[in-house]
Amino acid sequence: METASFRLSEMYRLPWTLPDNGISWLEPTAHCNLNCYGCYRKNIKNSNKPFEEVKHELDVFQALRKTDCISIAGGEPLLYPNIIELVAEIKSRKLKPIINTNGIALTKELLHELKKAGVFGFTFHIDSKQGKGREKKWEGKNEIELNELRLHYAEILAAEGNIACSFNSTVYGDTLQYVPDLVDWAHKHIDIVHTMVFILFRYITPELPFDFYAGTKKIYFDDIHYHSDKDEITNLNSKQVVEVIRKRFPEFKPAAYLNGTYKADDYKWLLTERIGTKDNIIGYLNNKFIELVMQFYHFKFDRYLSYASPKILSLGRATLFNLWTINKSVRKALGNYFKFLIKNPFRIFKKLYIQSIMIIQPVDFMENGDQSMCDGCPDITVWKDRNGKDQLVWSCRLEEPMEHGVFLRTVPKGFNGNSV
Ligand code: SF4
Repeated sequence: METASFRLSEMYRLPWTLPDNGISWLEPTAHCNLNCYGCYRKNIKNSNKPFEEVKHELDVFQALRKTDCISIAGGEPLLYPNIIELVAEIKSRKLKPIINTNGIALTKELLHELKKAGVFGFTFHIDSKQGKGREKKWEGKNEIELNELRLHYAEILAAEGNIACSFNSTVYGDTLQYVPDLVDWAHKHIDIVHTMVFILFRYITPELPFDFYAGTKKIYFDDIHYHSDKDEITNLNSKQVVEVIRKRFPEFKPAAYLNGTYKADDYKWLLTERIGTKDNIIGYLNNKFIELVMQFYHFKFDRYLSYASPKILSLGRATLFNLWTINKSVRKALGNYFKFLIKNPFRIFKKLYIQSIMIIQPVDFMENGDQSMCDGCPDITVWKDRNGKDQLVWSCRLEEPMEHGVFLRTVPKGFNGNSV
């Protein structure tokens, strides 16, 4: 497949680092009410952490990392018995609580309680390979058919008021084709859907030309949680996703990224910001716009922005009129807006919103066995090592240190792992 025709030099490298980041990742439980095919965590019953331990993890974040929001993940965080207290605790520390959920356990009553406790946003993970656990009517539905379920959650959040609404989907080789439909669906609901996230599927398959080691001990394929015997595409990259989106929406233009730890142009997190009404996208915001927002926010609040509130995101028109003199992409969007109004002046009554599309490309293997991770990983979590010391680790590979005490090394097959 061709690579996307955007250039690294035209994009802003998100300023997130290990000690200063937009996001941090908290897992109060490993228990889940679904068994998604692509999940990188074991589903463990009775794995709720004591509330004091979770508060300690928040202390660790606050000691080691400036952060804007805390993603409460898992497992399924809504199954955690202290979830309301936890949201209130995070809010009391002046951080934004974001719940990463499959939505199954979310009732309107619980949502109301969470709002009262201070929840800032939800990220719903919904895709077609989540297995059984949802109502029967969603079984066997493809990504487009699942938009009805996505809309249900977006609407109940909108009815509760001013809660950020995001959707995550894992993208597999055979579901890549649906990404433009989801991008299109998100546009039609730009007033209540604030972010769409596409996470590219990664698993270990027998075709991978590597052996795995924990220190000097060889670890067998079957003993690694995220392995599959199926013939799967496990190396989709974000440039390919952009190409697929651009076939339908040629003007789609990413503006910011996180690189890989081994390759500068591996776009591990690739962010696109667009502005428009529910009927028309009038522009894509550029690298300098995102730089301006990030640096201004950091200057004012001493941390980098991750989630913006729905109220801010609905100020599309104010953004155009206030920033057109200093930003080229805003100027271009304003020009398009005037053309849009000339065609039909009644459009002045339509609100303009800002919406984010993020593509996440997890671990990649380099030829020599190095593993390229997201440089400035936002989804870092706390793990207590075998000496009882708190460590900040990648949440996507947490099973490795939990099971083997260390992250696994990959060594090209044919080499002796103990001499490499
Ligand atoms: S390194 Fe892993 S946990 Fe961190 S952002 Fe990338 S995919 Fe997520």
